[in-house]
Amino acid sequence: MSVFHIAFIAHDRKKDEMVNFVTAYEHVFHGHQLYSTGTTGLRIMEQTELNIHRFMSGPLGGDQQIGALVAQNKLDLIIFLRDPLMAQPHEPDITALLRICDVQGIPVATNIATAEILVKALDRGDFAWRELPDKYKPVEGVE
Ligand code: PGA
Repeated sequence: MSVFHIAFIAHDRKKDEMVNFVTAYEHVFHGHQLYSTGTTGLRIMEQTELNIHRFMSGPLGGDQQIGALVAQNKLDLIIFLRDPLMAQPHEPDITALLRICDVQGIPVATNIATAEILVKALDRGDFAWRELPDKYKPVEGVE
């Protein structure tokens, strides 16, 4: 099985939804390389057997850390359950992350319906196109 690199981010009022979602599809995520912002990953790991590399909390820079991986084309899928009804202090970081996903053409789900469709695609093997030959090579000009 190919190992894909997947990141989870959920705003506070979406964290229960994220935990339920990841729990339901734990068998699909198992075996992939998983990343998250701080609290989201903690919540998921408390409820599942998954091992997740946790970055900083979103408002403290976690979105930007995940964005840095996206900029290097190192992530294959982002599940980002954001709260459309509550202003976030780190709105510029959120916008930047979504923008860099579009720059790189990275699949990103910002609501549970899209997340369901993408995880089913992952399970079916539809992410094979992400196995780009130069995906994990260092970015040009950067040591
Ligand atoms: P958190 O960060 O997972 O640390 O809560 C996500 C966010 O709220 O942006």
